[in-house]
Amino acid sequence: ASKKLVVANWKMHGNLMRNQQLIQAYLPALAACTRAEVVVCVPYPYLAQIQTLLTGTSVAWGAQNVAKYEEGAYTGEVGAQMLTDFGARYVIIGHSERSTAYCESDENIAEKFMMAKRHGLTPILCVGETLLEREAGVMERVVGKQLETIIRLFGGEAFAGSIVSYEPIWAIGTGLAATSEQAVAMHQFIRESVAASDKTAADTLKILYGGSVNPQNAVQLLNQKEIDGALVGRCSLDAEQFIKICQAVP
Ligand code: 13P
Repeated sequence: ASKKLVVANWKMHGNLMRNQQLIQAYLPALAACTRAEVVVCVPYPYLAQIQTLLTGTSVAWGAQNVAKYEEGAYTGEVGAQMLTDFGARYVIIGHSERSTAYCESDENIAEKFMMAKRHGLTPILCVGETLLEREAGVMERVVGKQLETIIRLFGGEAFAGSIVSYEPIWAIGTGLAATSEQAVAMHQFIRESVAASDKTAADTLKILYGGSVNPQNAVQLLNQKEIDGALVGRCSLDAEQFIKICQAVP
């Protein structure tokens, strides 16, 4: 089995000095923590800085969004080729903070996902339901539809070697993480949904959990065989907490 993956999502935080301090505080412990594969996803302007800081280390890096177009007259957009120019290997796609704030459709998200793949980037597709949807018991239908758009447009094989992160919206930034039972059930559903279209792709898909992961709940979450890793927001901005989460990988 491949290693579990812990991904830091810095969101719109940081500056040159703080980033450097944070990475310097992370690095020795992360290099020593060989059980986890670690990735740091930074705001675009800091890709060059992170490339300098992380080249030659065991920690990989990525971005938090990508354009659905190759290049052209798209003011303010950043293309996949630009990310690979700075050594990025991963890109977060369809984070709920983007799909709500900037009205990203499932089709847009699917196109970004494929653009990342075309350029050799590993997409980290975020899926998840709102609290209302969970209370109504329709969370599987909601997540299923998010996956279905990619399967319909590009086939289940698109998920081969890719990453899906289950991020229930009610758990993001709230301090209220999903229980490991809730996460495991949804992870099983996600893998089965992809397997129904392409069994081989489902076998090579990594499924992360994201939403208020902290050093305390990481132990139980990361010990589930259905959970291939974590996508960490707030606690990735604190070296001590992030290191503890990486060390929670069994
Ligand atoms: P928090 O860890 O801050 O809840 O954020 C989760 C998230 O959105 C990761 O992408």
